[in-house]
Amino acid sequence: MKAVVTGGAGFIGSHLCDHLIAQGHEVIALDDLSTGSESNLDQLSGNPNFELVKGSILDKALVGAVVGEADTVFHLAAAVGVHTIVDKPLESLRVNLHGTENVVEAAVRRGARYLVASTSEVYGKNDADGLTEDADRILGSPLKSRWSYAAAKGLDELVAYVHGGDSGLPCVITRFFNIVGPRQTGRYGMVVPRFVEQALCGEPITVHGDGTQRRCFGSVFDVVPALPLLLDTPAAHNRAVNLGGLEEVSVLDLAARVIELTGSASELRFVPYEEAYGEGYEDMRRRMPDTSLAAELVGYTPTRRLDDIIL
Ligand code: NAD
Repeated sequence: MKAVVTGGAGFIGSHLCDHLIAQGHEVIALDDLSTGSESNLDQLSGNPNFELVKGSILDKALVGAVVGEADTVFHLAAAVGVHTIVDKPLESLRVNLHGTENVVEAAVRRGARYLVASTSEVYGKNDADGLTEDADRILGSPLKSRWSYAAAKGLDELVAYVHGGDSGLPCVITRFFNIVGPRQTGRYGMVVPRFVEQALCGEPITVHGDGTQRRCFGSVFDVVPALPLLLDTPAAHNRAVNLGGLEEVSVLDLAARVIELTGSASELRFVPYEEAYGEGYEDMRRRMPDTSLAAELVGYTPTRRLDDIIL
């Protein structure tokens, strides 16, 4: 496989680069290093099968050139993180919408199969038991303050579907639910690395809201191998597939586990959502994926437990 990984210097993207290289593929990572970091790819420097191209997915000519030799494109680059999205909704919209258009169009011109990373946020504020992939729930009631991210990702899915249908090229959309693991940074609002960093530094652990909101955290090591497998699976083509963990915890439980596992003396500090993210911010009470489609398609079975993920 000659693969391009956009967002390859980011958290999930860099693990995907590692995985593809370990499988003997050639990989070009395209990243503007806005939230990603070159150091995430240190282990691949000097590898003749790997190249990092620094640049933006908004640069159409560059995207075309990078995708020019590829047979497979994994599109993970995006403006991410609650702070980025809430503070810069327009920029987030531009990158997530036009950037995706550039990448998918380049893949189609080249005749390359492609995977587009989407998000649980496209389900909006649905917090019913076990979200499934039903199309009629997409953007059902998006959170106002996250609208630019959720809306752009929803439209990204449409861009992927429409081009996939028109071109007949294999395309897969993956909806990630709170993926965590090494190299994820707490800087952009991600709760697990933030809690771990605060616990290790002996700082107060800042719980946004009352901490009773519930999440499932999925390990990047469970999720990444599923990505090339999905592209190899015809039954997955032109479909959206949930990927995430299955162990549900409240944010308060998470904080307690982090304190216990790190042996920290940190105390909890409760921060109202308005203070953390500005007026009008709301959060999902519960976010839990139904991953049975991924299990059926590629045998996806999350094996890492929350404690393994935190440590
Ligand atoms: P990340 O911030 O670590 O990765 C995103 C990467 O994209 C970064 O390396 C960043 O520098 C790069 N990037 C941003 N704008 C760019 C641009 N204009 N041109 C080129 N590169 C650009 O975040 P991540 O968690 O690894 O996210 C990867 C993908 O998965 C994203 O599409 C994100 O929306 C999606 N996702 C992640 C999660 C999660 O839980 N981590 C959940 C839902 C969706």
